[in-house]
Amino acid sequence: MNAPIPIRNLYCVGRNYRLHAAELGNAVPETPLIFTKPTHAAVSWEGEVALPGTQGSVHYETELVLLFGQPYERGASLDRVVSHFTVGLDFTLRDEQERLKAEGWPWLSAKGFRNSAGFGRWEAYPGEEELARRDFTLRINGREAQRGNIRDMVFGFAELASFIGERYGLGPGDVLFTGTPAGVGALRDGDELTLAWDGREVGSAKVRLV
Ligand code: ZN
Repeated sequence: MNAPIPIRNLYCVGRNYRLHAAELGNAVPETPLIFTKPTHAAVSWEGEVALPGTQGSVHYETELVLLFGQPYERGASLDRVVSHFTVGLDFTLRDEQERLKAEGWPWLSAKGFRNSAGFGRWEAYPGEEELARRDFTLRINGREAQRGNIRDMVFGFAELASFIGERYGLGPGDVLFTGTPAGVGALRDGDELTLAWDGREVGSAKVRLV
């Protein structure tokens, strides 16, 4: 991993964009829907990345990702505790997730597999307002597949940080995937996925379904 500090906890938010919740037939939650991934899920988005090819569809979810550099305490300003951001990929075994949801089981096998958390190049955190001025995008084989803007989030950064920080703890090295906009879909072996913020590429890699 090319992170500025070693990655610790990987927190993710489900259904944080209305149109994405709707495209999967899910209601928007009244409180943040938080799940985690093992640190072994983390992978720099470059070169070739292996993902599971024998467990049904693997969906891409493109998300704005925050890296915490300081411990979060109640009421802390995010400008002080968040050090970097990037665009990342929260990969999901969608058929497996549907099965887990039907059974009422935890999401680990659908969300926590190796390389299920891809990170672009980390950049200094410019603040939420600045991030909201620009879109983040995913291109697959050169064609735009997803475009999002954090102003469409159901729960904003401060709300997410206080919810997670007070319940589970947030400290240096912790990462927060802030949810995917609409447009998720299944990958094919050999797809080239390119992440960008404000039209500027932050990572590109080829997917190998193995
Ligand atoms: Zn996600």
